[in-house]
Amino acid sequence: MTLDDLLSTVEREQLSIDRDLLKLAYETAAQAHAGQLRLSGEPYVSHSLAVADKLVKLHLDQDTVIAGLLHDVPEDTAVTIEQLRHDFGDGVAKLVAGVTKLGKLKYRGLQRYVENLRKMFVAMAEDIRVILIKFADRLHNLETLQYLPDPNKRQRIARESLEIYAPIANRLGIGEIKGQLEDLAFPYLEPEAFAATERVFKQRLGDIGDLLTETQTALERELKARSVPVLDIHGRQKHLYSLYQKLQRPEIDGDITKVYDLVALRLIVPTVADCYAALGVIHGLWRPLPGRIKDYIAQPKPNGYQSIHTTIFGPRNRIIELQVRDQAMHQAAEYGVAAHWHYAEAGKPKRASGSLDRTLGWVRELSQWQHELEDEQQYLEALRVDVFSNRIFCLTPKGDVIDLPERATAVDFAYAVHTDLGQRIIGARVNGQYVDVLTELRSGDVVEVVTDKNRKEPNPDWLPHVKTRLARERIRKAQKTEGQRLERGQANN
Ligand code: MN
Repeated sequence: MTLDDLLSTVEREQLSIDRDLLKLAYETAAQAHAGQLRLSGEPYVSHSLAVADKLVKLHLDQDTVIAGLLHDVPEDTAVTIEQLRHDFGDGVAKLVAGVTKLGKLKYRGLQRYVENLRKMFVAMAEDIRVILIKFADRLHNLETLQYLPDPNKRQRIARESLEIYAPIANRLGIGEIKGQLEDLAFPYLEPEAFAATERVFKQRLGDIGDLLTETQTALERELKARSVPVLDIHGRQKHLYSLYQKLQRPEIDGDITKVYDLVALRLIVPTVADCYAALGVIHGLWRPLPGRIKDYIAQPKPNGYQSIHTTIFGPRNRIIELQVRDQAMHQAAEYGVAAHWHYAEAGKPKRASGSLDRTLGWVRELSQWQHELEDEQQYLEALRVDVFSNRIFCLTPKGDVIDLPERATAVDFAYAVHTDLGQRIIGARVNGQYVDVLTELRSGDVVEVVTDKNRKEPNPDWLPHVKTRLARERIRKAQKTEGQRLERGQANN
């Protein structure tokens, strides 16, 4: 990777980045790292360029791309953050400082793991772009992991990528980075499973590769005949690690012919109306599989994902999945929080900004815990429930999505909506049916909280049954004030 490669990526992605400043950043990095080599034998600055290149492909802003070029400078060379601030401004200096802080880890084992997580959330809360630079850095380190001579170190980095980086990327909605992190780490962690999955994948792909081309050709012709505009049609392959996980599901049980979305044909059209017009054309050509039409445009997934999915009996009656979406939905699905900067760049309405706010709220909450939860086990447990376990998504009667951990109760739901609802809940109607407050909810449930306005305090007996920290905290707090009130009452007597 050379400076010219990076400049041509900037050109191709049409980013408005000051070329002279980019060159200056490159020269600073090249000079600072002069004489240093990567384990691959390449000059160190090739890593800086590769990281910046990934950030350009994510369409991030100028400060982030420049910080990507400079991200290892203060840690590994004589150049200081102050000098970077002087030459490139406060924005760049802060980002580089954030990445540098994240890089220093002094613990081993569980402590190391927890320390890692804490630092990430604190850094993210300060500026989410720090973690995006860290993702690009980690991706390139994984791409060149074979040059690391110590097999234990290779394992550790791969495991950290799979267990920490990938779930965070997923939670931030950056599907593409999550998939890449997992697929790069997979062969180091489970070489046999990786080889086996790759083998069945290639075999099956050979069987269905021509199906994709055939479907695309027929579809393009018909869309044109019916004047439905199309921006892009492309096939997308399932990531290997995600296939490996799907193959282990009981209903699939290792049978790859039951994985219908191994490849999908993806259609990008200009407007939402075009999405439905295209769906009409698709179903006019081929019969859909019953129960597999999913309209995530009318009903987005809780993380904001929008698209229409349908699985059809395609050419020669063979089954294939199609996905239809507009450009903004596509960007949001691939780039998650990073898509925020795409819109900022293009000066278009920021459709993703609502989900960015939600995500940032979540990140801030996690970073605050670190002050409250001193004990490592406790912190890990809280994270396990709130980040890494499966989440469920329930709806208020108005259709707002409430994101909860698995097995959350109506009480958790009530507190997540509003503290007052939690304090006054006496029951709930779930999908129209009246249920007890401790009923465990399932994804997709529409939950209407039933309150009693005379009730002011939660029932302490709920404590062992609720699943969210928020509910637990509020109930404990209410218990405490109740205790204090009783004490005061006694003193007065
Ligand atoms: Mn680096």
